[in-house]
Amino acid sequence: MKNTFLKCVNCDATYEVTDPRYTCECGGLLDVSRDLSKIDGAFLKKLWDGRWGAKSGAEASGVWRYKELILDLPNEEIVTRQEGNTRLYPAGKAATYAGLNNFHLKHEGENPTGSFKDRGMTCGATAAKMFKAKSVACASTGNTSASMASYAAVEGLKPIIFIPEGKIAYGKLAQALAYGGKTLQIQGNFDDAMELVQDVCKELNIYLLNSINPFRIEGQKAIGFEILQQLDWQVPDWIIIPGGNLGNNTALTKGMQELYELGIINKIPRVAVIQAEGANPLYTMWKNQSEYKPVLDPDTIATAIKIGNPVSWTKSLRGLKWANGVVEQVSEQEIMDAKAMVDAAGIGAEPASCCSVAGAKKLVDKGIIDKDAFVVGILTGNILKDPDAVIGYHQNTLQAQNIVGTYANKPIKIECNIDAVKNALK
Ligand SMILES: *Cc1c(COP(=O)(O)O)cnc(C)c1O
Ligand SMILES: [Zn+2]
Repeated sequence: MKNTFLKCVNCDATYEVTDPRYTCECGGLLDVSRDLSKIDGAFLKKLWDGRWGAKSGAEASGVWRYKELILDLPNEEIVTRQEGNTRLYPAGKAATYAGLNNFHLKHEGENPTGSFKDRGMTCGATAAKMFKAKSVACASTGNTSASMASYAAVEGLKPIIFIPEGKIAYGKLAQALAYGGKTLQIQGNFDDAMELVQDVCKELNIYLLNSINPFRIEGQKAIGFEILQQLDWQVPDWIIIPGGNLGNNTALTKGMQELYELGIINKIPRVAVIQAEGANPLYTMWKNQSEYKPVLDPDTIATAIKIGNPVSWTKSLRGLKWANGVVEQVSEQEIMDAKAMVDAAGIGAEPASCCSVAGAKKLVDKGIIDKDAFVVGILTGNILKDPDAVIGYHQNTLQAQNIVGTYANKPIKIECNIDAVKNALK
């Protein structure tokens, strides 16, 4: 990995990429940086297009296809489940709902464990292997733990998982347990778990795989690379993405910046980050041009983004400035109504994902996104991750959370005879 190093976001200090650290001496977050002047963009584009459709090995992964800008390791050192290669759908009913004429949805819920986290995890697990770690740990609202447990199982590492008390979506918890994660439910919320896991990793010499880990961000850049490759390198006007711990939007803009500097793209897509009203520290800061202030008691049905103190907020802001981005917030009702539309379009996604569509609608309504703009929304997780939220909405039992089933599709109970069926189908 020549020309690759770790660089502090705050003070520009640099470290060897083989130095197993997550933060700078000054406390700042680290980026994986590379000397782009030594890379030929036109050559890369050709190389990547040549790998499209590779049938086996690391190059069949929608992350490692781009390994020159991820981690340039020999294929046999890579831990992969051939993640990525997710579809880019015309948004159908969800486009009509958002008021957009040219809207696509990139479905990251089609990854091996059902969320985009696999793109970061393949890279994080590969780093764990590079550092010869025996155990890996993360704090998680669910999808990170599902992904980490799976990749740890593949590589024979011991996964240790910290989850917050209270609701965690069943699909995600089920995966973590099933893949063999040692799962510790702590008395506290996600932000407390995040603090604890950092101390635990330091003290017990365990490799930390939260998105504070700079390698996870590198892997997640591939979402943007793959969108562009699927579009034959045509650049959308806007890319819309949900924001929780703010690693994914950081990755998106970092990747776009690298492609832009290499001349692989010649236009910068604008980026919209969408937060839930109940977990909106980035939105508040953005809107009021105020100092960063965590949300102390975050709450939202979109549990994947129920985070009050996102670790990557500084990196996220840096990327938003570069991409002339915006931040928007959406209500619980807006999230679940948008989800009903994504689901009814035949696509389907978990609640947090649907912030992309709820946010699209809001930004079109406000005149910030033009109805004819070329827009891609990222769906971050699979519909099956959180069946409780789906059933609650369609049975209209979410009133306590101030959500009504606007587009509810209730099951109908009938007697077991043909007349009852005819009656029900009327
Ligand atoms: C992790 C996650 C998010 C939030 O991504 P961040 O990088 O934490 O901002 C959104 N949706 C789903 C489904 C997730 O799993
Ligand atoms: Zn520093």
